[in-house]
Amino acid sequence: KESQAEKFQRQHMDPDTSTVTASYCNEMMKRRNMTVGQCKPVNTFIHEPLPDVQVICFQGNVTCKNGKPNCHQSSSKMRITDCRLKKGSKYPKCDYQTQQLQKSIIVACECVQYETVDFDGSV
Ligand code: UDP
Ligand code: UDP
Ligand code: UDP
Repeated sequence: KESQAEKFQRQHMDPDTSTVTASYCNEMMKRRNMTVGQCKPVNTFIHEPLPDVQVICFQGNVTCKNGKPNCHQSSSKMRITDCRLKKGSKYPKCDYQTQQLQKSIIVACECVQYETVDFDGSV
């Protein structure tokens, strides 16, 4: 079974993409299995090396949106792409808006290795 840390990487990590095209989200949301059964409404991909994302677990501690205490905000801005389902897009045709951003991100961390397990937002 896919672990929560593996799920985070599948859903949110894309370190090797430098040029994001308009069709990026349509391709990536499908390739990463987020258009199975339903179109996942919002998803962020992070274009930074995994170690740079994992160290966020040792940066500013903040409360998660769900009230849990294990979220952390990156001290530097990161290159990210937000994928947002377009209004009127109907499953199984998942049509996304692709938006490249440079923002501080908030992730949830768990376990002894302090792995990132959830993307909580960007600010
Ligand atoms: N997978 C799965 N459940 C999921 C997502 C993926 O069993 O919810 C399996 C999928 O069938 C494939 C592997 O995990 O065998 C890799 O999935 P994906 O295509 O998302 O990998 P990526 O492109 O992120 O490397
Ligand atoms: N999410 C994301 N980027 C964002 C906001 C949300 O990738 O900027 C994803 C993330 O996987 C999160 C999920 O969307 O776990 C649900 O987010 P949230 O709980 O904020 O959305 P809601 O449940 O309120 O629709
Ligand atoms: N999680 C957490 N803090 C949060 C949100 C989620 O520790 O604020 C953990 C949750 O317990 C689970 C993992 O993150 O182990 C993934 O959560 P979920 O499957 O709800 O995330 P999504 O699939 O929406 O990205």
